Amino acid sequence: MSHDVTPPAYAVDAQGWVSPARRLPSPNFEARPGGAVPTLIVVHNISLPPDTFGGPEIADLFLNRLDCDAHPYFDTHLRGVRVSAHFVIHRDGALEQFVSCDERAWHAGLSNFFGRERCNDFSIGIELEGSDTQPFEPAQYATLAPLVRALCAHYPIDAVAGHSDIAPGRKTDPGPHFEWTRLQRETQLGDVFFPYLHARDVS
Ligand SMILES: [Zn+2]
Repeated sequence: MSHDVTPPAYAVDAQGWVSPARRLPSPNFEARPGGAVPTLIVVHNISLPPDTFGGPEIADLFLNRLDCDAHPYFDTHLRGVRVSAHFVIHRDGALEQFVSCDERAWHAGLSNFFGRERCNDFSIGIELEGSDTQPFEPAQYATLAPLVRALCAHYPIDAVAGHSDIAPGRKTDPGPHFEWTRLQRETQLGDVFFPYLHARDVS
């Protein structure tokens, strides 16, 4: 089997920024406590307004410039909210980075990874533009997989989890349409990197 599409060669620089990614520095970050290094990748989905794709609202949210009068959902849920993720992958596969991977972004909230709380301290958050109700685009996996591989090459990452795995009952993303086995196949990472895979399959 061969594929005509050559995945982009992502690389992490000495300041924790990935190229080629569009850099949109967010003020919503802080130092990782105690100089922690990231060991976990957390996969999310986000769409603003919900189930609406293609607009600037995700970046606007992470840059604290979302017009909360523009949509009832924003008014109800997002006014005054200060959040961020390290990365957003849009429907066409375009990659944006908002926070250096060396810093602590604000994506996971109350969370627990096998007994270790405050997952933002030691994780990298990747948001896929999408929702719990529809499949993600092949172009998104084509960006996500080499990005994950580049992060694993630069940091001592030992696991990839969904937001719903580390915040069960509170969060549902990346949702039932996210193809974990596809991510594993495209990253060629071993089973040990996907500690929730079996639990998901049998539930
Ligand atoms: Zn999430």
